[in-house]
Amino acid sequence: MHLLIYLPFLAAAFSFGLAVFVILQDRRSLVHRIFAAGMLILTLEAVFSGVSLQSDLPSEVLYWSRLRLIMTAFLPGAWLLFSLMYARANYKEILSRWRWIIISAFVVPLAISPFFWKTFFIDEPLRESSLVWLIRLGRPGDVFYLCFLVSAVLILMNLERTLRVSTGHMRWQIKYMVLGIGSIFGIRIYTSSQALLFHSLDTHLVIINHGALILASALIFRSLLRSRLFNLDFYLSHSILYNSLTIIIVGAYLLTIGILAKLIQYLNGGASFYLNAFLIFLGLLGLSIILLSDRLRHKIKRFIAIHLKRPQFDYLKEWRKFTEKTSTITHVEDLCMTVSRMISEILEVLSVTIWLLDESHSRLRPVGSTVFTETGKGHRISEEAEKKLLQAIRNQEMPVDLDDPDISWAQDLKQSMPDSIQEARVRYCMPLSAGENLLGVMTLGEKVEYKPLSFEEMDLLKTIGDQAAGSLLNLKLAEDLRKVREMEAFQTMSAFMVHDLKNLASSLSLTMQNMAVHFGHPDFRKDVLRIMDEGVTKINDLCGHLSMLGQKIELKRKETDLNELVDAAIFSMNGSPNISIRQNPGLLPHLMIDPDQIRKVLTNLILNAHEALQSGGEIRVTTAQRDGWAILSVSDNGCGMSKEFIEGLLFRPFKTTKKNGMGIGLYQSKMIVEAHGGRIEVESEEGKGSVFRVMLPLKEK
Ligand code: ADP
Repeated sequence: MHLLIYLPFLAAAFSFGLAVFVILQDRRSLVHRIFAAGMLILTLEAVFSGVSLQSDLPSEVLYWSRLRLIMTAFLPGAWLLFSLMYARANYKEILSRWRWIIISAFVVPLAISPFFWKTFFIDEPLRESSLVWLIRLGRPGDVFYLCFLVSAVLILMNLERTLRVSTGHMRWQIKYMVLGIGSIFGIRIYTSSQALLFHSLDTHLVIINHGALILASALIFRSLLRSRLFNLDFYLSHSILYNSLTIIIVGAYLLTIGILAKLIQYLNGGASFYLNAFLIFLGLLGLSIILLSDRLRHKIKRFIAIHLKRPQFDYLKEWRKFTEKTSTITHVEDLCMTVSRMISEILEVLSVTIWLLDESHSRLRPVGSTVFTETGKGHRISEEAEKKLLQAIRNQEMPVDLDDPDISWAQDLKQSMPDSIQEARVRYCMPLSAGENLLGVMTLGEKVEYKPLSFEEMDLLKTIGDQAAGSLLNLKLAEDLRKVREMEAFQTMSAFMVHDLKNLASSLSLTMQNMAVHFGHPDFRKDVLRIMDEGVTKINDLCGHLSMLGQKIELKRKETDLNELVDAAIFSMNGSPNISIRQNPGLLPHLMIDPDQIRKVLTNLILNAHEALQSGGEIRVTTAQRDGWAILSVSDNGCGMSKEFIEGLLFRPFKTTKKNGMGIGLYQSKMIVEAHGGRIEVESEEGKGSVFRVMLPLKEK
């Protein structure tokens, strides 16, 4: 029991720690300063209590109790100020309306304590046990505790209001702060009521106050960990405090305690009464923590709805209907339309609208609706209300009832709706989010018979909403993928163009270089004309390709002798001195192929082989036939390729190992060969060389 003497000092340490912590977060903010001041007053009060408990002489106890009382007199004003300012954006306006009450909360208790010193306590303190002193209160003492009780109730009411306005994440942040300060003053209501009832101050009560302070410090600290600063700004409407839970609870509590106390006094009950009352208080605090948890409340309701009530819906049927209707939809608009119609039917709500965020994720656009026939531009919520809506709705787990007077943004939203939307008579609003992505919101009007949605209906709505959001996200991703593919195809095509143009430019520049030397030569001039003519044709072809962007390769098949084609291709490549190209023609029938395209393939393969033989070597071009295939192979004994490269990167566009390469040649070759119904096979070993085998069907497929 004697250990309890140290309890006030522990409480003082805790509250002092909190004051320092908060002031370090933001020294300039007024709310932070007031909080810190309030905590310092509590600290000093606890220190004086601690000292008075250690005293042995009645006069000493009286002296320290008076000092403590002066600190107590500061509490109502300071904390009332804080409760009016905490987390409120329009606190200046609120303070000016409360100014007389605040002034009284400071002046009255402070005036009573020193001015009526003599009559505040009557008689000397009486020692009941080693720890318990009893000091009888005079009239001023009663008035003081009455004032304190009223102020504590006002503080609790203000905190309750802030808590009620908050929702979702904001509530999660401030909940423990409100509970912490609420428990300091909740316990004070109890202790003041005891002092009033028995007209005396009992050191038990002081210890209980400080015990609550320790508990409260822990709760406040938890809240501070969630949100270090106090500037969470809610706008409180002008309406006066109404249907306050605090008033009901405090009223009921005072009544019960009053009756109990009288009863116990009558029966001459002992100290266990205080303990019991404190335990009741702890129980109430625990219960409010649990009840304030949105998630838990939701779970309890859900449990009751599922296990204890006859289900309102045949979930299996609804589920099947939903899947049947939505599984084949491929357009976002169709999905939104179907889902809004379905919800309208199931819940008997006339107006259902699905609003989706536009590309830039800033504005909402109605996409499917049972009210708007044309989901165009006209139906837009004002920008400001939309911003508030998006901010608030993001954290909601369940559909929000916009008729709830405690949700301030809901009122703004309803008022700011243009006439075209008013006709939808929005009553409920729900986020459509898949994972972390908020895709949009769904708004619902009144039920046909104007009854509010039941919990079960809300739950079903949420489930359908979640499912719809998942499907919406899939459709959106598929759409994004399609766009990316289009872009990719476009890039591939342009890369082909650049590749062909580059080849053309290099052959023209070679001709230009030779022009200066050979211009006088008539044969050369003829060649120049031919090359220019070919160039023009190629450019025209390219333009033709460009206009066929995205289409498949068109083949102009002709009866062709593959061996002749190889001859011509090798001939046109004036081999470098170090490299010899060996030809090994086999017996082949004429093939129905596009000679220009196959020549491109051949040229590509020979050029690659040529580039693989950096320091000389041999290229071998062979033709043969086997199992219904004409086989054209180009082999070299050059650098070869790694297995990983062949398996993962070869034939893929833009994959090249060359400094000036484009990685297009083989990709293009593969597409050409495949357009002929053939395939390309590769064998290669690093450092030893490679064989590329083009397989073309002997008979056109
Ligand atoms: P580019 O020649 O512009 O790089 P290609 O599509 O023709 O584009 O070739 C892609 C890559 O394949 C080349 O960068 C090279 O690494 C590899 N390659 C192609 N043919 C051979 C070969 N005969 N020997 C070694 N590597 C080759």
